[in-house]
Amino acid sequence: MTEMLLSVVVPCFNEEASVEQLHTAVTAAVAELSDVEIEVVYVDDGSVDGTLAALRRLAAIDPAVRYTSLSRNFGKEAAMLAGLKRATGDAVVIMDADLQHPPRLLPDMVALFRQGFDQVIARRDRRGDRFLRMVASRSFYRMVNWWIDVRLLDGAGDFRLLSRLAVDAVLAMPEYNRFSKGLFSWIGFRTVVITHRNETRRTGRSRWTFGNLFNYAFDGLLSFNNRPLRLAIYGGLLLTLIALGYMIWVVGDALSKGIDVPGYTTIIVSVIGLGGIQMVLLGVIGEYIGRIYYETKRRPHYLVQETDDPAPDPRTPRP
Ligand code: UDP
Ligand code: MG
Repeated sequence: MTEMLLSVVVPCFNEEASVEQLHTAVTAAVAELSDVEIEVVYVDDGSVDGTLAALRRLAAIDPAVRYTSLSRNFGKEAAMLAGLKRATGDAVVIMDADLQHPPRLLPDMVALFRQGFDQVIARRDRRGDRFLRMVASRSFYRMVNWWIDVRLLDGAGDFRLLSRLAVDAVLAMPEYNRFSKGLFSWIGFRTVVITHRNETRRTGRSRWTFGNLFNYAFDGLLSFNNRPLRLAIYGGLLLTLIALGYMIWVVGDALSKGIDVPGYTTIIVSVIGLGGIQMVLLGVIGEYIGRIYYETKRRPHYLVQETDDPAPDPRTPRP
């Protein structure tokens, strides 16, 4: 088999307890592959614990380690982007630092890549998830798939292998609001899914609170189309039709029976109802305008504080 370079991109936010363990596991998993060279790109996303120190230590002992440390916590999307830009491999695997993405899948993923797949999605089953979280996720995916134009797969997160072709496609999308699950699905290419057992987080804690997840769901719904605006138009049209019908009825009534003063209930209900609907629609429009505002600022997705990159990517702001 031909020699290839595999990049493993790992965003880390306060993961001092697991990076070393992860590194050992990744190295061990790849060691059994012939003709695969590896680089592990760690991105420290503004951790406030000893993550950066751990990365420096790893870099000192293992020449396969690359690390970049961002100037503050920019969020996982930004950290992943930094890692993808830095990665030079023929194939790139993105994985979490908390060992929830088992490195033992790497050989299978590489094998599928070698069979010609551009995306190998490692999807987890939901065993051991809290019941409420499971229900929330399931309904999220059902809603999203009905709603947006790209397909999202329940349990498929950012743990996946991307071919160079797919990585370049993702990097070619400069948008500020990055919803990776959507982006990865949007680019397409030959895709295959493998399912693995759910691993619960062993150290540290997940950044997901319920409110967080809700916002994330919202993001997902808004970032991939303008269907909410379309819905607003249809809703408005429907209401107008109803109002028109009612108008004809009321006017007819007034003409035939004369003016009938009571009608307080109707008025108050329609005023409040319409007011509410208008507020919601304004909010929807505001969301889109807010997104346009962020996009137009053209700010970098992240800033780098420290890196061992001898030739930082010109697109990467220099520390
Ligand atoms: N992460 C990051 N920046 C953040 C939050 C998380 O780089 O602001 C990293 C984190 O270190 C981990 C991965 O993203 O490697 C997934 O985070 P987490 O385990 O908290 O999310 P979950 O597994 O619950 O989806
Ligand atoms: Mg996790």
